[in-house]
Amino acid sequence: MFNALIVEKDDEGKTSASVRQIGEDRLPEGDVTVAVEYSTVNYKDGLCVGPGGGLVRNYPHVPGIDFAGTVEASSDDRYKAGDKVVLTGWRVGEAHWGGYSQKARVKADWLVPLPDGLDTRQAMAVGTAGFTAMLAVMALEDHGIKDGPVLVTGAAGGVGSVATAILANLGHEVAGVTGRPETADYLKSLGATQIVAREELNETVKRPLEAETWGGCVDAVGGEMLARLLGQIKYGGSVAAVGLAGGAGLPATVIPFLLRGVNLLGIDSVMQPYDNRVRAWARIAKDLPMDTLEAMVQPAVLSDLPALGRDILKGQIKGRVVVDVN
Ligand code: NDP
Repeated sequence: MFNALIVEKDDEGKTSASVRQIGEDRLPEGDVTVAVEYSTVNYKDGLCVGPGGGLVRNYPHVPGIDFAGTVEASSDDRYKAGDKVVLTGWRVGEAHWGGYSQKARVKADWLVPLPDGLDTRQAMAVGTAGFTAMLAVMALEDHGIKDGPVLVTGAAGGVGSVATAILANLGHEVAGVTGRPETADYLKSLGATQIVAREELNETVKRPLEAETWGGCVDAVGGEMLARLLGQIKYGGSVAAVGLAGGAGLPATVIPFLLRGVNLLGIDSVMQPYDNRVRAWARIAKDLPMDTLEAMVQPAVLSDLPALGRDILKGQIKGRVVVDVN
């Protein structure tokens, strides 16, 4: 028997989550059984622990879109008992049972070996949010980061915190957009040199082009903020669009693309090919200072998750939560 966070849905469609003991016979099909050590809390986890957001297919459900742990048994040649592994994406924790459990069973294709230089706790301090932040930085690099500050929106959140720390460590000036002015000292400790108030960017686009200000941008917010900041990117610069914390709409004009050659780069972490996953994790181990990562971490256990899920949906989590499932 082992512990897992089980989400159930009643006849009226209301969900409830609680920690339960279940047996191995409840684990889904898969090639690799993993003794999970750590998981984390991402925005999607908030949806899957709570209302579902259309992501969860079947109840009862075990959420947790990522985990790190040790292989217990494997019928796939690539993994053997004792190997340390990380999983993000592939709709684990949404369409498939996830990491809020002491055991998980998944397809070998979905796993990545734990990168050298990271332990399982650090891997989940990074988690899907941090992994995606790295993908965003890599995409910006591939298209060329221009001189001047790189803007990070939703800076005090998970994606934003890790993006800020990586970009600053790579020597870029970082401007963090936050709706929580009280996080300014925290953002500066991660390496941000400029704090931009959310209200400054939250207004609807009035002029399609504004002063060329930012050398690039990692955007976790979307919506009106993304539309607005496109008009502030320097000539030939890029925005990596990661999230929709502020909305899925994009009330923009095409003028920044046409007159300034601005690039809008889509970032998806879920279906990311294996080779690029390995590349991103290696870059994380190299370019994200572990002491800065530690400064983002808030520890938690399985029973904290229902409350943490509600908090992240309200934009109230600072940095990264690491869930010790044992
Ligand atoms: P967090 O909740 O940790 O961070 C989101 C941050 O956005 C908040 O902390 C807040 O930052 C800001 N924010 C929240 N609401 C608003 C709002 N209404 N307007 C403007 N800013 C707002 O979530 P994550 O970092 O885990 O995820 C961020 C986004 O990225 C989510 O939309 C998530 O779904 C998406 N995502 C996408 C992935 C992909 O593969 N493309 C993978 C992982 C995440 P502050 O308080 O500093 O303003």
